[in-house]
Amino acid sequence: MFVRSRLLWKLYAGYVTLILGSAFIIGAFVSRGIERDSIARTRRNLEAEAILLREISWKALSGERDPSLQGRVEDLGGRIGTRFTVIRSDGVVIADSEMDPARMDNHGDRQEVRAARGGESGTATRFSDTVGMRMMYLAIPVRRGDHLLGFVRASLPLTDVDRRLGQIRAVVVLTVVIASALALLIGFFLARRVTEPLVRMTRAAMAVAGGEYDHPLEILSNDEVGDLGRAFNSMIEQLRARMETIVLDRNKVVAILSSMVEGVIAVDRSEKVLHINSVAARIIGADADRAVGRRISAATHVRTVSELLSRTMREVRDLTSETRVVSGGDERFIEMKASPLRDRDDRLAGAVLVLHDVTELRRLEAIRKDFVANISHELKTPVTAIRGLVETMIDDPEMEPARSRDFLGRINEQTARLTNLVTDLLAVSRLESKDGAADRELVDLRVPVRESLEGLLPVARSKGLHLETGIPEFPLPVSGDAEGLRQIADNLLDNALKYTPAGGKIWVRLRDDGSAVTLEVEDTGIGIDKEHQARIFERFYRVDKARSRRLGGTGLGLAIVKHQALAMGGSVSLESTPGAGSVFRVRFPSAAPRPAPPSPPSLFESGN
Ligand code: ADP
Repeated sequence: MFVRSRLLWKLYAGYVTLILGSAFIIGAFVSRGIERDSIARTRRNLEAEAILLREISWKALSGERDPSLQGRVEDLGGRIGTRFTVIRSDGVVIADSEMDPARMDNHGDRQEVRAARGGESGTATRFSDTVGMRMMYLAIPVRRGDHLLGFVRASLPLTDVDRRLGQIRAVVVLTVVIASALALLIGFFLARRVTEPLVRMTRAAMAVAGGEYDHPLEILSNDEVGDLGRAFNSMIEQLRARMETIVLDRNKVVAILSSMVEGVIAVDRSEKVLHINSVAARIIGADADRAVGRRISAATHVRTVSELLSRTMREVRDLTSETRVVSGGDERFIEMKASPLRDRDDRLAGAVLVLHDVTELRRLEAIRKDFVANISHELKTPVTAIRGLVETMIDDPEMEPARSRDFLGRINEQTARLTNLVTDLLAVSRLESKDGAADRELVDLRVPVRESLEGLLPVARSKGLHLETGIPEFPLPVSGDAEGLRQIADNLLDNALKYTPAGGKIWVRLRDDGSAVTLEVEDTGIGIDKEHQARIFERFYRVDKARSRRLGGTGLGLAIVKHQALAMGGSVSLESTPGAGSVFRVRFPSAAPRPAPPSPPSLFESGN
């Protein structure tokens, strides 16, 4: 990770330049200083040696004979390791530690000699043909008063000086290299110490960006970087808390929206879906996951939805509308309420649409309207008939007794019909105002069924119908109300009697299969066509109105049966073949859970 830290390498590159630059400059200065110093020292040595030589050469240079000079010069030179030369003022060499002076050139024009002639000393550096190497020469004049007697010269091969300087330079370079290497190493670790917290902070920041808030930075230092780390940690903590609140709020909103019965769609200003709950998606036939981010007009084929949303944004006001959505042959009525959405600065940010499925409401409304119209019609018919008959009798006071008897008979019939109607209407209204579980008690289903049979047996006999019953000998407890059960049995039996021609057969059976108790009324009557079977339990629905009226029917009997059964947790079913007969079954949940008793045919008592 440090290898990839660009800051580390930037810092380090600057540092390396600084260290290497200063090491080079220091090295150069040091080595130059040492070199100068060494040359100066060599010069001083040569000067001291020359002064020594001057003392030895004094006599010979004064013009006196000194045959031992050459020997002493050679001896001194050999011991000190310096070449000595004694030169007369005219340039003639009179002694030399390395060579026979007789074979040497005139040295009067040598650079160091010429320099020494006019001053205190003269130096020169050059290649010596005599010794065959580069030499450093130093000559000093020998004077007696103002009179120049000659020169003494000391010289050293420069290779010695160079070698020594080389050694010193090597030491300087080595020192500089070691010091630089150490500085670079320390520098690397220092730079790393600066960049390491930054690298860690970067990683932590990236983790936070990725949604991880659980790994605070480890603070190791107590300096500005440590302060930055602490500030960073507290920032993450605040961010985490804020994020939690946001996520919590969002989840709450999503939970509320998704548990709503209403559909909700929110769009932004460009009509792109921001949110859509599952109810709305189902209503408008969209895919909730794929719709988000798409334009509403592309997400659904229901044009009224997108139109209402654009209108509410265009007009910036709440709008209400109702639409019909047909999908898969299913027709639904949807009430839509659209409101503009505003941001914090009260600018238009989009719109929200609430969809309410009012199909059931509309259906119930239609049924209610139908019901009221039906009741009015049903009531009006007998009342009009009675009124007509009565008015005729009033207008004709001398009416024949036979005719007036007939009139009174018909009035009586219509009155009975009115009574039936009012009784049934009262039963329906009672059923509707009753809440499901109220007034329930344990009732032995055999009791209301037997009562009903007793009441209707004479009718069956008079109509020439054969009535058979199959009622078990053990009780059949049902949780319900006796009156309701009686109404069920009465209506089913009454219908079987009404719609079965003379000579037909009717069976009334009770059965217990353990989990349910069933009342079955079968007849060999006129039967019901398939197309009417589904609607036969609706209020006022009749296959043949005229026949029903003639037979004293109200069209409410089966509706009462169905509602009573439902109120007691039961269900109704019908099997019928036109011209052959019908079987009506009402099943109630058994109120006494126990293993199903055997119910062979022998258990049924039969008779009429
Ligand atoms: P109604 O008072 O007209 O008999 P119901 O609600 O009891 O009203 O019955 C509705 C209609 O169902 C009847 O008008 C009749 O057409 C038909 N229906 C009911 N029971 C039978 C049956 N056992 N056989 C044939 N049709 C029946």
